[in-house]
Amino acid sequence: MLLQQLCSSLCPYCGEMIELLVDSSVPQQDYIEDCQVCCQPMRVLVSIDENDVPSVETFHEND
Ligand SMILES: [Zn+2]
Repeated sequence: MLLQQLCSSLCPYCGEMIELLVDSSVPQQDYIEDCQVCCQPMRVLVSIDENDVPSVETFHEND
């Protein structure tokens, strides 16, 4: 079973496409990660569905 999956999302600050490595063994995740493009801290929410498919949302850190 694949436990780490690469997901793409858009940075809430600069709007660039970024890639996030998601651990799909944890069904709900909420963490801060720096954007790979503009280095600003964004809040990442991950939910894993019953088929182990992650969906990723990114927010400004202070929203
Ligand atoms: Zn950015």
